[in-house]
Amino acid sequence: MNKKLISYKFPQTSLNFSVNSPANGKKLASLPIFDANQVQSSIKKVVTGFENWSNKTAFERARILHKWHDLILANKQDLAKIMSAESAKLMEESLLEVEFGASFVSWCAEEAKRAYGEIIPMPNGNRGEVHRQPIGAVAAITPWNFPLAMITRKVAPALAAGCSVVCKPSELTPLSAIALLNLAREAGIEDGVFELVFGDASMIGKEFCASPALKKLSFTGSTRVGKILMEQCAAIMKKVTMELGGNAPFIVFDDANLDLVVAHAVKSRFRFSGQTCICANRFLIQEGIYAEFVKKFAAAVKKIEIAPLINSAAAEKVSKLVEGCKKEGGKVLYAAKGKAEMPTYYPPTIIEAVTEKMEIFAAEIFGPVATLVKFKTAKDAVKLANATSYGLAAYVFGTDLRQASKVAEQLEFGMVGINESAISASHSPFGGMKESGIGREGSHYGIEEYFETKFVSINLM
Ligand code: NAP
Repeated sequence: MNKKLISYKFPQTSLNFSVNSPANGKKLASLPIFDANQVQSSIKKVVTGFENWSNKTAFERARILHKWHDLILANKQDLAKIMSAESAKLMEESLLEVEFGASFVSWCAEEAKRAYGEIIPMPNGNRGEVHRQPIGAVAAITPWNFPLAMITRKVAPALAAGCSVVCKPSELTPLSAIALLNLAREAGIEDGVFELVFGDASMIGKEFCASPALKKLSFTGSTRVGKILMEQCAAIMKKVTMELGGNAPFIVFDDANLDLVVAHAVKSRFRFSGQTCICANRFLIQEGIYAEFVKKFAAAVKKIEIAPLINSAAAEKVSKLVEGCKKEGGKVLYAAKGKAEMPTYYPPTIIEAVTEKMEIFAAEIFGPVATLVKFKTAKDAVKLANATSYGLAAYVFGTDLRQASKVAEQLEFGMVGINESAISASHSPFGGMKESGIGREGSHYGIEEYFETKFVSINLM
């Protein structure tokens, strides 16, 4: 691992925490635990940083962001190694994440140049102007499952818009964040424009939410924590973006192209061992194609190799869900062998006869377990798909595009892939309906979250 990329001069603290490999428990680094005063100092820094950064033109900011993007790509191998070490993500997936994460930086750098205002025709002859101004210094809290991309997806649009950012990454994967910070400094993103803090998540969350100096909180993580943070922000009406959990249905109609379906089904369910928010969480299969799907899907799943989960608590949670499902009538169609020497590993598993009433149907499994549900009609599929409090991503597979489009319209999900499961990109809006979140990231919708809209009425006299 490139030690230089993960070394940074943070404030001296009396307490530290360890970052350990999920694969073998080996200690990778020791990092400072900030106290509340140190978090407040970081908040002050980004408030000062905002004054300087927001005074740069969008073009100057774009030039610096492009440099950051290029440095991220130039260090792709090292960044991917750091990410794989702290998250256990397979190296090929980490490499893809570095590219994905970098894409937000270059895309936002360009898009911020197009933050146009408006002139409104006024009945009284005044000049009505609509300005888009950076919202201010903002806070970000990010999860461990995309240690790099979830940071750039927040920091890039914020910086592009002229905001400064203080970010708390997950304590499980802070090393990718430090590497990003070092490359940001090298690119010219100075002290106070992008800062990191570490420590007690609940304390940091409270400091972020209660601080009037931070104008917004952008959070990616579980719906449970999102609700806590939103409640805390409500006290001072702080703006929020919430990117929360998912429970994606993956609907397969009788007329679907099975080879395409199986390729996407395996990728969507088992990428990063099922620990992604948009992964297929419930397979809803029409009865005419069910038997053939099961045969081909099981054959494909038998061939895959997956990474261990983030920690043993995650593996225990998945195991509990599977055991509960079995007791409720679920039938295990396939379960790969476990790895006794690796308590963080959970084997790829397929369960049939899952019903709407089971706990596993309602839960975000966040592990390598595929649950199969049979349905008769398109109406049944929509009803089953929408029977969840989540509303992040959904997938529909079928060659009758008229039917697939109609179903997509009826799905209560922020993103729908039709014959497609790769639906996340820097140029498209990402986010959820219902309890999966508020606001969007990516595309011009994502940058919009970092602007205030100001109306100015000028009496020209
Ligand atoms: P999490 O437990 O909610 O943690 C997310 C972040 O919040 C971490 O930095 C965590 O810190 C911090 N945190 C925990 N408790 C907090 C509190 N009381 N106040 C303030 N911050 C707090 O989620 P996770 O397990 O890391 O991530 C998995 C979840 O994220 C899944 O539900 C997944 O679907 C969701 N996710 C959503 C998206 C999306 O775009 N919609 C993308 C990726 C992941 P520590 O880790 O240091 O405790």
